[in-house]
Amino acid sequence: MKNSESLKSIYQALLSAFGPRNWWPADTAEEVVIGAILAQNVAWKNAHAAIQNLKQNELLSLTAIHETDTSMLAPLIRSSRFYHQKAERLKNFTTLLFDRFKGDLSNMFQLDLDPLRKTLMNLKGFGEETVDSILLYAAEKPIFVIDAYTRRIFSRLGLTDAGASYREHQQFFMNRLPADAALFNDYHAQLVHLGNQICKKKLPLCHQCPLNHRCAGKMEPLK
Ligand code: SF4
Repeated sequence: MKNSESLKSIYQALLSAFGPRNWWPADTAEEVVIGAILAQNVAWKNAHAAIQNLKQNELLSLTAIHETDTSMLAPLIRSSRFYHQKAERLKNFTTLLFDRFKGDLSNMFQLDLDPLRKTLMNLKGFGEETVDSILLYAAEKPIFVIDAYTRRIFSRLGLTDAGASYREHQQFFMNRLPADAALFNDYHAQLVHLGNQICKKKLPLCHQCPLNHRCAGKMEPLK
């Protein structure tokens, strides 16, 4: 892509078509953290069911999770699949939070972006997408989240190489857009909506796509 205006105009086209997405689907920063861990490698509906189960059992808080044994936690988040691993990851996060930041997310989020990213990336089971989701949507730090939808849409648009690394994709956006957490928040949310509803993996609905006129990989509707 030649300049930042093109990337901004893609966002404007999505915003005009879909309106502000108001992401992340959670009431508090703690719920964003919990949701980001539960959503690893599964559809959001699986994570959502696990969140609801935690809520019904009065465990939808980082303090409650910290005080609950992994063996009790795991069955409650079964719908998120890989639930033993995810119970451990929740506990890994809360152990860090309580050991280093007095159990208070606002203390943790006072760290600057780079050291905080490094700290979270050192947690076992935390990859770049999970960490960046926490940084952007819970800590409100200006970092662009890359996911499978982003890779698919931008490679079909002919603007990125689907095989490029996470960091290369991230730099593609961050080198061309202002470091604005609100913009990164809604841009990623727009891409999730487009990828989920229109730019589908097998049969993209290109005739409904607001990016149709600029897409190298668009498909004509079946006659
Ligand atoms: S035109 Fe089709 S392939 Fe291109 S971004 Fe839109 S839905 Fe995806």
